[in-house]
Amino acid sequence: MATKIPTVRTVRALRKQVQDWHARKQTVALVPTMGALHEGHLSLVRLAKTKAKRVVVSIFVNPTQFAPHEDFGAYPRDEASDRKKLTELGVDLIYAPSGKEMYALDFSTHIMVGVISEGLCGASRPHFFGGVATVVAKLLLQCGPDIAVFGEKDYQQLKVIERMVRDLNIPVQILGGPIVREEDGLALSSRNAYLSPEERIIAPLLNRTLCDIASDIAEGRPITDALQAGRARLDAAGFGVDYVDARAAKDLGVLQDEVTTPARVFGAAYLGKTRLIDNVPVRKRRAAKGT
Ligand code: AMP
Repeated sequence: MATKIPTVRTVRALRKQVQDWHARKQTVALVPTMGALHEGHLSLVRLAKTKAKRVVVSIFVNPTQFAPHEDFGAYPRDEASDRKKLTELGVDLIYAPSGKEMYALDFSTHIMVGVISEGLCGASRPHFFGGVATVVAKLLLQCGPDIAVFGEKDYQQLKVIERMVRDLNIPVQILGGPIVREEDGLALSSRNAYLSPEERIIAPLLNRTLCDIASDIAEGRPITDALQAGRARLDAAGFGVDYVDARAAKDLGVLQDEVTTPARVFGAAYLGKTRLIDNVPVRKRRAAKGT
């Protein structure tokens, strides 16, 4: 039987353990999560295990990245089940701080990562990336890992964190892990649990639509046309579309009407009350040899 993983709940205990590993010349990877772990999270843990000797998984539902009308209260929490999954993977430490440990009552410092946080999810959730950047900066400073792993599922978040780490000289390497999907293409998400059976049937259309937009763009269809068609298809299927957009993969820069740099297509849409997000790469077809 796998041994139970230690759980620490204070910055002090976390630092003590990580300093001890570093003193023994062992590398440490951190995988930040909000719990309700699924295969998407677990894939990041597996990736972390290939890159570092020790893996810490943090579980913290961060209140500051939810607006008052959002689902902070309803967000799924099941630490016992999370611990079981992490035990099976052989994680070294769980860091599960309380809200009080993370935020003093008079907490008053906020990190804002300009430009890259604007647009896409930042347009309709203006509070979101400030909350994420601040909590991730705290987690990185609390833990002091060599590597931190984030999912491409939240691609804009990954780019915001890369930018913050570069701008603030935080000494950590940020790694992105690929999106894990259900067989029908729906990206795994803790929020998929909110979908009704009827919504669950429609949900994979978000991914299919983004894939079709990406291949249309790759074949030379003007970007605005492809995006408009995709949006109309989602509207017609009953999604409440927040945005459908194509951006440069490296820095989320706005594209001209033809793709010249590596690009990705992004979408966010509501099914009922559930907000789904997804993104896919635009794969330019290579010209056949001799043509
Ligand atoms: P969350 O618990 O939703 O904050 O997610 C924690 C980490 O898991 C983030 O870096 C997410 O991008 C990543 N993640 C969530 N869903 C997936 C997925 N389907 N595939 C890969 N990574 C994911």
